[in-house]
Amino acid sequence: MARGIRRPHESVDYAALVRDYPPPPEYFESAWYDDPDTIEHKQLLRLKERAQQAYRVPFFRRNWDAAGFHPSQIETLEDLWKAPFYTVDDLRKSIEAHPPLGDYQGVTPDQACSEPMRVYMSGGTTGKSRPTLYTQWDREVGGILGARGMYLHGVRPGDTIINAWAYSTHNGAFNFDESLYRWLNCLVLTTGSGNVTSSRRQIELAREYGAAAILTTGDYLLHLAEVAREMGIDPREDLAIRAVPNVGDRERIEEVFGVPHYASYGFHEVQWAAIECPARQGLHIFEDAFVMHVVDPETGERLPDGELGSLCVTELYKTGSPQFRYNIMDLSYLMPRGQCECGSWLRRMGPFAGRGDNMVKLRGVNLWPEALGEIATAHPKATEDYFVRARRSGNRDEMIISVVSQAPESEYETMRVELEAMLKERLGLRIQAEVVAPGAIDDWTEIHTAPKPKRFRDERDA
Ligand SMILES: [Zn+2]
Repeated sequence: MARGIRRPHESVDYAALVRDYPPPPEYFESAWYDDPDTIEHKQLLRLKERAQQAYRVPFFRRNWDAAGFHPSQIETLEDLWKAPFYTVDDLRKSIEAHPPLGDYQGVTPDQACSEPMRVYMSGGTTGKSRPTLYTQWDREVGGILGARGMYLHGVRPGDTIINAWAYSTHNGAFNFDESLYRWLNCLVLTTGSGNVTSSRRQIELAREYGAAAILTTGDYLLHLAEVAREMGIDPREDLAIRAVPNVGDRERIEEVFGVPHYASYGFHEVQWAAIECPARQGLHIFEDAFVMHVVDPETGERLPDGELGSLCVTELYKTGSPQFRYNIMDLSYLMPRGQCECGSWLRRMGPFAGRGDNMVKLRGVNLWPEALGEIATAHPKATEDYFVRARRSGNRDEMIISVVSQAPESEYETMRVELEAMLKERLGLRIQAEVVAPGAIDDWTEIHTAPKPKRFRDERDA
């Protein structure tokens, strides 16, 4: 240790790191196929340790003491349910009382002397942004998780990858960068977003370097394909795109690039958490790094497998800032543990189905307009465009979803019946549906004027 400073290789035990969190391709020859006992044994050991560490953090100690929870109560994985959850509101309060970092961080900035550290911020569109301190260890595991995801989605060592995410105060671009550079042995071309490197230049670089993927949102990726066509470049024939680890419109991305698209789930504070395998029957959770619960977004009560609710995330891998039962308000559902066609026993969750804070109560049942949209737009003749209204009919609350279709008007009635049956089956509740022509709901969604289309209006108080 030179002058009290520890460098990355001195602060992280790399042999232990790759043993505990195997990077790809080794991961897909080992832990990916762990049997349920091995998976849960590993989880429990890590969970106990994380609970002890989290209890040293003022934010968690305060909440846990108030709820009468102590880390020693964790004897089985089931006992995790005894720990109270927290939400973004609790983090905001913590930041207000202890600016700028809050009291939920597991480390302090001066500890960067003994282990290199980074800070990234999430949110900021509504209210103050929320910082998270990451230790070198946290960055490395986060990099490995991202590398696993991109490997499964088709990225290979030696590939050149364009990283068109904005290098900013946000974690995203850096997490991708570290995954590719440190754990996938790819050549990273750090173009940054379209504001930094023009779309035309991004396409030129993709062609010149034979880029195997362009990391960005699905929407921007599709925009780049348009730009390529304007330049006389066929995105399928003239580019070498082999992987599309982009979150977006699956069908269009696959059509434009001729490459299979797989879903993934992650968020700023915990990085990559779950990935879809080629069997496409749910997203496998990286269970050596996470325990996922699904809860009622309002009460935090446990929901049965298969039921849509808010993800409540516990990470098992960090040494910096803990996330221990973080009720993240992202909607999804869990599937019971079973062996997937791909051979893995890792537990699967459904795809991200919208935000839980947009919840609407209808006849005592919690509903999310975005989740309704997910279900309805899965109809083969529906487009991605929809709008949901809650209204009052007599003494009864009703919900109606308008779905845009390009089918001829003569098919609307059949579609309507099918849509209502799909909604009834998934939600156990009657939701009305109507089919409309393209453009018919543009005034409601404000799709041409708002930065993000609106999807819901409550007309019950009107
Ligand atoms: Zn699978």
